[in-house]
Amino acid sequence: MRFRSTRRQAPAVPLTAAILRGLAPDGGLYVPERLPSFAAGDFSEADFVAGAPRAETAAALLEPFFAGDALAPAREAICRGALDFPLPLVDLEPGVALLELFHGPTAAFKDVGARFLARCLERAEEPRTILVATSGDTGGAIAAAFHRAAGVEVGVLFPRDGVSALQRQQLTCWGDNVRSFAVDGTFDDCQRLVKAAFADETWRARRRLTSANSINIGRLLPQTVYYAAASLEYRARHGAAPRFVVPSGNVGNACAAVWAREMGFPIAGVLLATNRNRTVPDWFATGRWEPRPSVATPANAMDVGDPSNMERLFDLYADAAELRRAVSSVAVEDERLLAGVAAAAGRWDRILCPHTGAAVEAHLRDPAPHDVLVATAHAAKFRDVVEPRIGRRVELPPALADLMRLPARETPLPADLGALQRAMDAPPDGTLRA
Ligand SMILES: *Cc1c(COP(=O)(O)O)cnc(C)c1O
Repeated sequence: MRFRSTRRQAPAVPLTAAILRGLAPDGGLYVPERLPSFAAGDFSEADFVAGAPRAETAAALLEPFFAGDALAPAREAICRGALDFPLPLVDLEPGVALLELFHGPTAAFKDVGARFLARCLERAEEPRTILVATSGDTGGAIAAAFHRAAGVEVGVLFPRDGVSALQRQQLTCWGDNVRSFAVDGTFDDCQRLVKAAFADETWRARRRLTSANSINIGRLLPQTVYYAAASLEYRARHGAAPRFVVPSGNVGNACAAVWAREMGFPIAGVLLATNRNRTVPDWFATGRWEPRPSVATPANAMDVGDPSNMERLFDLYADAAELRRAVSSVAVEDERLLAGVAAAAGRWDRILCPHTGAAVEAHLRDPAPHDVLVATAHAAKFRDVVEPRIGRRVELPPALADLMRLPARETPLPADLGALQRAMDAPPDGTLRA
């Protein structure tokens, strides 16, 4: 299997090369040259142990993507290292279920992709540096996944005054091969610094810089596994193919659901629930692709005005009508995100995060006969907004509670490339926070 660029101006490459490059040289995103297709009977729900896809099944499912690549012999070990926490499918009421993707070490679905990417990169031959700019969830998942990964050094850049206390702890409690930089600036300044580091060819080559952001194919592929597993499990329980309702920002998670559908798994459709960053639903309504600056909402991990992964869906369906048959989209206003959280607490006694609240609201507005709502983060990560809305305390899950007890280290950093490079090249000496 080779991966080609959505823009078709770059050579197709095997999996490891696509992962190491991140973005294709022509500026496009890597996609499989051909999605494998599975027939009824290739897999059944019995292949997936109660909600947690077994490593061998995941490895069999992803086998075509590894074919011909240096990582192929390691694919089972990679899957075992990435998919070793539960991903339960919970029935809420007839025709509505919840797929909980928040039982990993940093309590968001991003743990799956980040851990798969880390297990791949630590097997790449040479030492590497990963730089990631973060406004919250991504950096924590990446830091956790790469912590103590052999031969990999990680720099996490976050805006000094732009993350919650809980997020900050998740970004700064690692140490060892992970350096956490509190940047004197905004998230955009962090992102600019990372881009500048990539643009410095000499430093980039010397550090063997790799990006871990959400366009990396290594984060997308393992996400197809939980959609395959949940669709089979749902059908085994209820005799029907479900639609997935996916809280969406950069559309990586939803893209994996669409790929699983194209691979032949019983998925009726995919509904993308966005917040008021409505570039995607506007495309579905008007056919015009009009990216715009993002606006801040209570579902901040979905604050994306120019969702990169739509390029992969436009590539998959040359015909827009075909894309519309498989996928639809609803935008949810700020107040309604929290109304979705309140509705889930009232109807199903489930405490959900504001991102998942978008999926609840989108489902209530446009229900399908069989909907699986995708829960992308644990509510405890957003307890400041969730607790007042539902009038209940939200307990930290054990994994997060453990992280909260670790000592934290962060290095203050001016928004300056030279300072970042010197800090990464210096021996580790984060300043201990009180
Ligand atoms: C990242 C994130 C999303 C958005 O996922 P995309 O793949 O970018 O669409 C939704 N919810 C949570 C909690 C996230 O962390």
